[in-house]
Formats: sequence, C-alpha cells, structure tokens
Amino acid sequence: MEEEPERTKRWEGGYERTWEILKEDESGSLRPTIESILFKAKRKRLYEHHGQVRLGMMRHLYVVIDGSRAMEDQDLKPNRLTCTLKLLEYFVEEYFDQNPISQLGLIVSKSKRAEKMTELSGNTKKHLTALKKAVDMNCSGEPSLYNALNLAMQTLKHMPAHTSREVLIVFSSLTTCDPANIYDLIKCLKAGKIRVSIIGLSAEVRVCTVLARETGGTYHVILDESHYKELLMHHVRPLPTSSSSECSLIRMGFPQHYIASLSDQDAKPSFSMVQLENNSEPSLSLGGYFCPQCRAKYCELPVECKICGLTLVSAPHLARSYHHLFPLDAFQEVPLAEYQGERCCQGCQGEMKDQNVYVCKVCQNVFCVDCDLFIHDCLHCCPGCVHRNSTATSA
Ligand SMILES: [Zn+2]
Ligand SMILES: [Zn+2]
Ligand SMILES: [Zn+2]
Repeated sequence: MEEEPERTKRWEGGYERTWEILKEDESGSLRPTIESILFKAKRKRLYEHHGQVRLGMMRHLYVVIDGSRAMEDQDLKPNRLTCTLKLLEYFVEEYFDQNPISQLGLIVSKSKRAEKMTELSGNTKKHLTALKKAVDMNCSGEPSLYNALNLAMQTLKHMPAHTSREVLIVFSSLTTCDPANIYDLIKCLKAGKIRVSIIGLSAEVRVCTVLARETGGTYHVILDESHYKELLMHHVRPLPTSSSSECSLIRMGFPQHYIASLSDQDAKPSFSMVQLENNSEPSLSLGGYFCPQCRAKYCELPVECKICGLTLVSAPHLARSYHHLFPLDAFQEVPLAEYQGERCCQGCQGEMKDQNVYVCKVCQNVFCVDCDLFIHDCLHCCPGCVHRNSTATSA
C-alpha cells in the first residue's frame, strides 16, 4: 500500500476548542450553546449539497452490521447492538423514502464469518423484519471485514455500471479476522468501483481509514447516539458519482395499479411474481401491477421485472427522487435586528423571536428557523415561490 498522504492528526492542532465556545446562560445551563452547535451543524448540511453534480440515483447499498462481542458494550443504551438496530430501522425507512428506485441489502459479520441477513432488494418490509429479528442475535467472536466485503462484492460487481455500488459498515470491534490480505481486496473493490464507508463505534482503526480513502468512501467515529444518527443520515442522500461512472438512459415502466372486481367476468386471478419467488405460500389474487412489457404481475413497486428486466416504478417514486437533482437553494441568513420587513414567518405565521431570520433569495419571503429546516429537509420547495408561481399562472 502506498504511503498515507500528509494529514493533520486531531492531536496535532487544527482541533476545535469546543469548550471555549461553551458559555453558561443566566441560569447556569449549557444547553443553549450545545443546541446552537448542533444547529449550526444541521444548517451546514444544507449548504453542503449544492452545485451541479451528477448523483447516483439508482443505488445498490449493502449495510454490514458488526455482530461481534464488541456490540455488547453498553456505552450506547441499552447496548450497541440494540441501539444500532433501532437506528438502522429508521435509516432503512428514510433510505427508501429518499431513494425510491434503489436497493439495499443487509450483511452481518461475527465469529470470523459473514452472512447475508437479506438479499439486495427494494422491499422495505423484508429489511425491517430482519432488523427486528436481529435483536435476539447473540453477539460472538470477532468480525471479519474481509469476508463481509467479499460477500458484498460478489453481488455488487454484477450490478449495472450506471448504478452506484456502495457498502456501509457499522464497525464496533477494534480488530478484524481476515483469511487473506485485505489490501488486495481493497484493490479489487476500487477496481469494481465499490465505495466503502465506515461508521466506527469505538475508535479509529487504520485499515478502515485506508479502506474509505482508497474506495472514495467516508470514515467517521461516533461521539454519542445523536451523532451516530446524524452520521447514518448522511448516507441517506445519494452521493455524487465519480466522473468515470457511466451515464445511461434507463427504460422504465409505469404500471398502473389494476383493481379487478369479483363481478367482472373477464378477471382472472393470478400469482404475483414476488410471491412465487419467495415460496411464501403463493395466493391467487385479482389486482396488482402488471409489467407493461410482458404482463408479469407484482404486488409492490419499485421492482425490476423478473421476466423482462424492465424497471417498474410509480410516477410519484420518480418525482420524489427529483429534488436531489435540483435542491432548493439555502435561504439567506439575516440577523433579526437588521431585518426591516415583517416580523411574521411566512411559513407558520408565528412571530419571529430567534436571532436570525431566513430569506428566500427568489421570492424574498421570510421564514423562521424551524420552517427553514422543514422546508429544506422535507418539503424541498419554497412555499413562497410555489404560491407566487400558482398565482402567476392563474392570473
Ligand atoms: Zn416484464
Ligand atoms: Zn415559521
Ligand atoms: Zn421562495
């Protein structure tokens, strides 16, 4: 492996003197300053994802969960495993909400082995069930980064070149038990354009640093539970793709949900493809989504047609991915004292009380902090601009 590039270690300066920012308020509480630090970090996230970038909208992500003894540590409550599984449940829901045409799979690594908890799929329920079940898992032995990555790579390398291939490892242990040289595997991962990111629960481990750096991923070690959640949420948003990845136009089908009534003489009951594949007691049903190309039936979208390979999505799914490409510009932060206009938030109609107000650069409407975050995190469009556009067209 080549020499590690020059980099300032945290202990070599460049550190943040967070304790100097802390100030007590009149009642002697530190809460307000801590909140303002967290708040600034949140706003920073808004500013980060801007500019014209190409994003990997179709993602294939394997989440590797450490199942070793180290997960029994109780520094996270009630222990690392339970806390991790809870956060991952939330992560899985958010992931599919924000990346509706993507897939995810779960891998667990313990006792020097790695096994799949779920296959790569877009089925949210399946992953959630697996995560709920894993609470009873007994943590044992050491994890194996090599085996987990190798397992993920076997599937990911067959994914089409225009999709992003990612692995996210939740790593609790400080050691890994590898059957072969992991640096060779890192070269393979790099060649296969598989991006590996790691969230460490203990302390920085060198092999993880190299892994993230070589494959273009990120590596962070958590401070506490809320930081852990914040780090996980960073992986919900699609990352910019490397310039070498292919672009391609993708054929997609938009099947309508077809509901047949029992009184309809022509309606024929049929099996859905997913049920047949899962061997989960296939049952005949009337309605469903029918692939426009080959008429195979599915109960849920999005899915890749098992027969003809067409990607089937619903139009609202695709619309929800849209805002990643054209994110709403961050609002301008203006101190309340300097702001001349109305003292009433255009979002919640509440009176402005915080130090700052937020002004949309396009429609000049003013919003409070909470509305600003809600608009950027959830709505993805400015209500002021929408209102202006709708009155303009109706006039
Ligand atoms: Zn089909
Ligand atoms: Zn408001
Ligand atoms: Zn606006």
